[in-house]
Amino acid sequence: MKIIVANVSGFCGGVRRALGLAYGACRQCAGRVYVAGELVHNKEVMENVKAAGVKLLRDCDLEKITPQDALLIRAHGCPKGQWGKFHKLFNTVIDGTCPHVSKISKMVECESEKGKTILIVGDKFHPEVQTLASFAKNGRGCIINSEEELSHLKDSLGQVLVIVQSTIDESFFKSFTSKISKRYPHTEIKNTICGSSRRRQQAILNFKKEGVQAVVIAGGIHSNNTRTLAQITQKIGLTAFHVETVTDLPIQKLKIFQVIGVIGGASTDEKTTKQMVSDLLALEN
Ligand code: SF4
Repeated sequence: MKIIVANVSGFCGGVRRALGLAYGACRQCAGRVYVAGELVHNKEVMENVKAAGVKLLRDCDLEKITPQDALLIRAHGCPKGQWGKFHKLFNTVIDGTCPHVSKISKMVECESEKGKTILIVGDKFHPEVQTLASFAKNGRGCIINSEEELSHLKDSLGQVLVIVQSTIDESFFKSFTSKISKRYPHTEIKNTICGSSRRRQQAILNFKKEGVQAVVIAGGIHSNNTRTLAQITQKIGLTAFHVETVTDLPIQKLKIFQVIGVIGGASTDEKTTKQMVSDLLALEN
């Protein structure tokens, strides 16, 4: 058995930054440190963060907040309308929004203010997409994710700017945005897939060239970027094993493959991926 490890691994820049802010706040804050929603979509990482003292903000906590407590905004950002509420509740609000998401949010705000319709391609239930949509002024933001949703839009949208969720499949981006351009000729397309997602998607395509037969994708089951990596793997004809923890590794099923690729998602600790690699290498002996 040959194991090929992707040349990109560990936390993406946005997740690393948010985790650093979380651990820093736990050390420095005199009160409790809350986070609005899961900091990252990864069970193991969330367990570590919670063990360090970070608490998920629930409705029942709102009455207990003290002036010493702090709130951390996660890497996905938070809808614009919630910032005011959070600043009223907490003396300290730490912005852990990934700089890439902040940059695209500003673009959405600025271009919608100029009168453009902003089409946001992505999962409407994902917090990043909800953050981006919330920055569109005067109801000029619209989330779509399929040809059917595209067909339901008005025939005329004026000037259109298309942006996309940072983790979507680049080949879907190309095919779907070309359909948008056909329907709306005055469309500007911005490829807002982030660098970390692009590099990981490219690593999957490289696996195919390197003769990999099956790919172990380490990451949270609800992690969008990890799920995208698993979908791309299947789309290009390789067998995908999306596993959350080292103990989930399907050793018996993997034994039948001669060349296995291993990659971690953007919110997967490099230690987890390394442990998976060493467990697979142990099979060789
Ligand atoms: S996946 Fe990309 S956009 Fe999302 S937090 Fe990481 S670097 Fe930022």
